[in-house]
Amino acid sequence: MHLARFGRVSLGHFPTPLEKMENLTKTLGGPQIWIKRDDCTGLATGGNKTRKLEFLLADAIAKGADTLVTQGATQSNHVRQTAAAARKLGMQCFALLERRVTNQGDQYEQTGNVLFDDMLRCEYEFRPEGLDMNAEGEALAEKLRDKGLKPYFIPGGGSNTIGALGYANAAAELVYQADSCGLKIDKLVHATGSAGTQAGLVAGLHALNAPIDVVGISVRANKETQITNVHKLACATSELIGVKTDLSRDLVQAYDEYVGPGYGQPTDEMVDAIAMLAAEEGIFLDPVYSGKGMAGMIGLIKQGVLKAGENVVFLHTGGSAGLFAYQHLFSRQKAA
Ligand SMILES: *Cc1c(COP(=O)(O)O)cnc(C)c1O
Repeated sequence: MHLARFGRVSLGHFPTPLEKMENLTKTLGGPQIWIKRDDCTGLATGGNKTRKLEFLLADAIAKGADTLVTQGATQSNHVRQTAAAARKLGMQCFALLERRVTNQGDQYEQTGNVLFDDMLRCEYEFRPEGLDMNAEGEALAEKLRDKGLKPYFIPGGGSNTIGALGYANAAAELVYQADSCGLKIDKLVHATGSAGTQAGLVAGLHALNAPIDVVGISVRANKETQITNVHKLACATSELIGVKTDLSRDLVQAYDEYVGPGYGQPTDEMVDAIAMLAAEEGIFLDPVYSGKGMAGMIGLIKQGVLKAGENVVFLHTGGSAGLFAYQHLFSRQKAA
């Protein structure tokens, strides 16, 4: 694996820190727990999409684009980071926001990530839930092309092989950090959605021949669907990187017990996990992704899947801007 063969622009602060969570480790009484701070990538409050965008935007520039088009849910962290990347590189950004969540109060479509989209001058339009959003995005790009712009379409979550290179690179970064401090990592746990993060990690670790289990906590799809999506993208990414050996489906693990009622819908375990990280470590997770990812990690510790004696790294994928859209779950002020 030699990723300098691929174009990359600089958008974030790397390497992100790898830190021990001493308090959480003590409180949970299971494995030694570490956190990889990809919430600290720096791009307009950061998050995991920054790594993907470094490779995607290099491709956009190579193709002569002046405009980015992408899509996501209303509180998309991906859209926010794409909009910020566009500002930095002097491009326009158009986004389609899918109304997947409509029951979280009046402010949901104005605050959090949407407020930041406004501030970043992202041109967004809402769409009802259930359309083929990538097809909608491609159609918008076509319309902009007819108007004389040079659009580059980025699929939801930045999850294609080029975007996944960002997480193949993150795998190398993590292994180097762990090796530098003598840490033997057994398992890497994170929230998995559009699959690019997990696919890139699995492909990167496979290329490095690094025996670290990647454990995806699904935020939307059922287990079989998520494993299939991740495996397919991991294989394609592995091929793009130039790895010769097959990437077995057994390398992809996912749990779907922490989705709750649906994407972006709160669960008690998510609220508890977010409260626990804030109280124990002073770290903010998010309600849609990393809060459910952490709920999954805590659940797997309680079930004994993650055990005492193991070293577990939680990948913090960011998203805390979304907390403001779910303020009612976390505010300690009670109505009089
Ligand atoms: C997008 C996102 C994820 C999921 O990453 P995928 O590559 O889409 O699977 C996890 N956490 C946060 C905060 C995200 O914004």
